[in-house]
Amino acid sequence: MNEEQRNMNEQAKPFKPLQPTKDYSAYFQAPSLKDAKKRGKEEVAYEQFSINAQFKGMGNGRKFMIQTFGCQMNVHDTEVMAGIFESLGYEATEDVNEANVILLNTCAIRENAENRVFGELGHLKPLKTKNPDLLLGVCGCMSQEEAVVNKILKTYDQVDIIFGTHNIHKLPEILNEAYMSKEMVIDVWSKEGDVIENMPKVRNGGTKAWVNIMYGCDKFCTYCIVPYTRGKERSRLPQDIIQEVRELAAQGYQEITLLGQNVNAYGKDLEGFEYGLGHLMDELRTINVPRIRFTTSHPRDFDDYLIDVLAKKGNLVEHIHLPVQSGSTSMLKIMARKYTRERYLELVAKIKKAIPDVALTTDIIVGFPNETEEQFEETLSLYREVGFEMAFTYIYSPREGTPAAKMSDNVPMDVKKERLQRLNAVVGEYSEKALKPYVGQVVEVLVDGESKRNKDVLAGYTRRNKLVNFRAPKEVIGKRVLVRVTDAKMYSLNGEFVEVVEKVEV
Ligand code: SF4
Repeated sequence: MNEEQRNMNEQAKPFKPLQPTKDYSAYFQAPSLKDAKKRGKEEVAYEQFSINAQFKGMGNGRKFMIQTFGCQMNVHDTEVMAGIFESLGYEATEDVNEANVILLNTCAIRENAENRVFGELGHLKPLKTKNPDLLLGVCGCMSQEEAVVNKILKTYDQVDIIFGTHNIHKLPEILNEAYMSKEMVIDVWSKEGDVIENMPKVRNGGTKAWVNIMYGCDKFCTYCIVPYTRGKERSRLPQDIIQEVRELAAQGYQEITLLGQNVNAYGKDLEGFEYGLGHLMDELRTINVPRIRFTTSHPRDFDDYLIDVLAKKGNLVEHIHLPVQSGSTSMLKIMARKYTRERYLELVAKIKKAIPDVALTTDIIVGFPNETEEQFEETLSLYREVGFEMAFTYIYSPREGTPAAKMSDNVPMDVKKERLQRLNAVVGEYSEKALKPYVGQVVEVLVDGESKRNKDVLAGYTRRNKLVNFRAPKEVIGKRVLVRVTDAKMYSLNGEFVEVVEKVEV
């Protein structure tokens, strides 16, 4: 069938059950550390997104639904895919029964996250049987893994579409192909990835916005699948980011979070000029938006210039999330984190000197293969030495295709669990300690909405990322308000509403 015939039949074509017959091996290349490290700079293409005229109106009368798993990067990818769907004429729905297309935007960071997706595919099977015209797709990080795709091919024939993190901009073509094809449409492999600008977005709410500043990661921490699923580091051009932030500021957004797997590597791949995250933040701080954050940092690439710029404050908040993963230099070496305990502590000392009121938070993995009690205790002592105000803590979970997954492990699961509990006790202790001094103070809170626990209470975050609950009229949702703190819990503050903040101090 040629393109013209496909277009003519596109709306009318009845669904036929999928019986994959292609040899899909051509789409894949198993994760290879050796090959991935040969990544070249010159191969990144900067392109503008546009929808081919032949696909316009493809979604008229149809509805889409996207279920998102995992990190903020995925949440933002979902905003982009929603933008593409709406540009094609589709309407969003949250009801699986009325959706014509359902996408699962997946996460590969932990086995547990993958199992949830397979469970969801199982739940959706009866729906697909009942409604064979429904298109069911899997995208996100899991679809970049060969083993996952093979499992879907073998076991989940209700899936019509699999596409990867590099191929979101191809969604119109992929959908068109799925409507036309009898076979599962797979579009996953692109080991490097490009930078596609001008993608439409449907942002969730009008208060906080996420802005990608770079894609991919070249760090290759031994436990992490991201460099394989998200491709090599590639930075957006500064002018494109600045323009996007300006537009968001003009639309009234109150907080911008710059996104990347390793934002501190921003600009390293830009040819012909010296420009890093510090330079970008220095330009963004002049834009009339109240708060700017970034995530996620890598200590190795966190440079002095960035610290100097963050110390200028204004709309650059006093919160830095700085994943350490372990407090043991020998463990950090096995994790290939490329810094030592001493180097991390030096960095923390520099940050604290430049920004004395900074709130530092972190990520920690416990029970990495062969972690000794002494190594774990070094993590506890580092936590206390830094005085982190909060942490995301995890038990190590092996990811197929990563070097750490091949390591033998002599640490029993009950020991890992016990270490996690001990660590979490310290996390709670330090969180409580950080929150107590707020009692009696007036803090600025950006109001997210109703509290998850009580609809009569509003909740939001301070610049230093402290959760504050308080009662106030619902009209203040989406605004910055002043709240007098009355009470400190282990992980949050309670307070009394004072007034709305009108001014943007930049
Ligand atoms: S820096 Fe982060 S995303 Fe990159 S490999 Fe390490 S843990 Fe994964």
